[in-house]
Amino acid sequence: MNDDPRFLTHDPFPYMPDGWEPPARVERARSSMRHVSTLLTEARTLPPLPAEVPERGIGDPSCSTCRGFGWVRTQDAEGVAACRCVVLDPAAGLPPRFRDATFTTFEITRNLAMEPALNATLAVATGTSSFAFLFGPPGLGKTHLLAAAVRARRERRCTAIFAEVTELLAELRAAIRDDDMVDPVGQRIGHYADADTLLALDDLGAHNPSNFSEESLYRILNRRYNSSAPTIISSNAPLELIDPRIRSRFRAGFVLCKGRDLRGEV
Ligand SMILES: [Zn+2]
Repeated sequence: MNDDPRFLTHDPFPYMPDGWEPPARVERARSSMRHVSTLLTEARTLPPLPAEVPERGIGDPSCSTCRGFGWVRTQDAEGVAACRCVVLDPAAGLPPRFRDATFTTFEITRNLAMEPALNATLAVATGTSSFAFLFGPPGLGKTHLLAAAVRARRERRCTAIFAEVTELLAELRAAIRDDDMVDPVGQRIGHYADADTLLALDDLGAHNPSNFSEESLYRILNRRYNSSAPTIISSNAPLELIDPRIRSRFRAGFVLCKGRDLRGEV
């Protein structure tokens, strides 16, 4: 969590004389930042940790932090969280560039227009809402928010996976050739449709449409919709290119992402 007080008390006009009133636009920005602060505080109330820490290790035995135990001490009220080796287990699917993405490292003050997207992803991560569907041009931080939601859940030892749509479809296509399993594609679809797992599905619409891809994605997302499974989708594609069956089901979670491309400005 970002406890840096500058994050929330940043004054865009620090050198103006006493009694000077900031323009309404700045006041709106300040109030928006206060709102984000409340949300981030609430994000601490993610689903509760399991009552008992298992005796056997759940972490990576070669991890130098937890030596395979899987838990680490923290300064917050819980006092314990899943170790980094558990959070970043390859099964989480987090892309290397976004392994350290969290809600507090999302620089909302650089683009307040992304506040609704931050709110929506936080709501799914904390369990107060089931769906968020972020759409808009690339470079606004959508992938960062998806990764942050996955990390936040995994720190609480809740299952969460990040999947880039084209990678997911490639995995399903590869499963067709798996002769060791009965219905290998169905099993992979079941994995991604699991109602207890938060799924962050990145870049919907970037794939080449085919019957196989459209039906596979629909089977996953329809099952998730029917069980109100926590699901966050992002898309850069024009909305009319998204399967209308998916569009209509996740309409309640739509968030339009706006602003300018922030990549390369750091
Ligand atoms: Zn560890």
